[in-house]
Amino acid sequence: MKRFKGLHGVARAQDRYQHDIVVNSKVVRLADTGGSQLILKTQHNGDCNAMAKLPILEFPDERLRTKAVPVETVDDEVRQLVDDMLETMYDARGIGLAATQIDVHRRVVVMDVSDDNSQPLVLINPRYEPIGDAKEPLSEGCLSIPEYYAEVPRYLKVKLNALDRNGEPYELEADGLLAHCIQHEYDHLEGVLFVDYLSPLKRDRVMKKMQKRHKLMNDA
Ligand SMILES: [Zn+2]
Repeated sequence: MKRFKGLHGVARAQDRYQHDIVVNSKVVRLADTGGSQLILKTQHNGDCNAMAKLPILEFPDERLRTKAVPVETVDDEVRQLVDDMLETMYDARGIGLAATQIDVHRRVVVMDVSDDNSQPLVLINPRYEPIGDAKEPLSEGCLSIPEYYAEVPRYLKVKLNALDRNGEPYELEADGLLAHCIQHEYDHLEGVLFVDYLSPLKRDRVMKKMQKRHKLMNDA
């Protein structure tokens, strides 16, 4: 998922985003008292190799439609993938990135919804279930669909289960921006994009906009 920029056209979205960040810092609750350690555990331990930025696939690239396979063992190769994904996400000023977006079709996601990139979260083989039926719309962006934002209704609260960078299982309850981000990134692993929730007309407009962008990039 992508951070909103302070552009005039998305001023309202920007306000909304900041509001959610404030709410989010208060509403993110971890399922047990070891919660604060969970975030620390996912930070780099100094044992990682040099990180690399990776190219991000852009809509309507068909490879974004691939369903990712589960990770069987969280080994050094997976940890390197995680580190490269974090580097790529931070460089692109994103708050979430799924391996699908860098053309690696394994069930790995990285996120950081903090204001200062201080809370990297690693989700390997993530699963979530809604807590309650309530949904709320929130403006979303995506690193695979640059400079486009649209409101998507998602479950307000979810319970996440995943493995961390060390292969340790964890569980957390999230709402606000983090809950949205979990659902958005999980969709990527299933080959689903947030524009799939829009009307065909709107999706078509995004498609044309992206094709124009790619043509400009190729001509440059
Ligand atoms: Zn995305």
